[in-house]
Amino acid sequence: MVDRCPECSFLFERLEGHWIGAIAINTVAVIGLMLVLLVGTMIFTYPELVPLQLVPVLVIVGALGPIVFYPASKTLWTAVDLLMRPLKKGEVDPRYVVVDPERDTGKSSTWRNESKWDD
Ligand SMILES: [Zn+2]
Repeated sequence: MVDRCPECSFLFERLEGHWIGAIAINTVAVIGLMLVLLVGTMIFTYPELVPLQLVPVLVIVGALGPIVFYPASKTLWTAVDLLMRPLKKGEVDPRYVVVDPERDTGKSSTWRNESKWDD
């Protein structure tokens, strides 16, 4: 994955440890899918026990699910992060996104990006 958006120069990893949220989304999604498969199978096969054929399906979903969903989880987490911590002035090329200068205090020391467009 590239560090910055090739169009607007947005730095995807805005803070150290930024991708922990993506890993959390990925984990919750895959475990949720496994639970849906398990409970769905239990409902459809009731009153029988869960068929043994479900075990390899759950193993495959548990092994491949995090890999398949990884790019989407990063995109989702970046969107959630942008909702929680909106863009600051200088984080993207102002030709693509205009940041409200009233909102930007510029006092936070946690921002890793140096702003190329600050004046
Ligand atoms: Zn962009």
